[in-house]
Amino acid sequence: MTANSDQLADVIALHASSRCRHQGRCHRSAVWLVDAHGCENRLMCDEHRTGYERHVRRVLAVNGKTMCTLCGRTFVDMPSVVQAVAL
Ligand SMILES: [Zn+2]
Ligand SMILES: [Zn+2]
Repeated sequence: MTANSDQLADVIALHASSRCRHQGRCHRSAVWLVDAHGCENRLMCDEHRTGYERHVRRVLAVNGKTMCTLCGRTFVDMPSVVQAVAL
């Protein structure tokens, strides 16, 4: 399930100029809303978003798929797993 654009816009408005929420330990400003196929919306700075996407890509490259720990669904391509929206 994917959040529709209205919901996404609300989330973005709510979190505009917030901090990066990557593991709750980053103090940079968030510049991306990273939407994990509706499972999770997380604000991230550019560096953490890049690192997160690199991690997912590596898992996909090695295993050919990745399983979401939240919903248990299996994904085989990057855009299905995660989409980043610029704040
Ligand atoms: Zn960060
Ligand atoms: Zn999921």
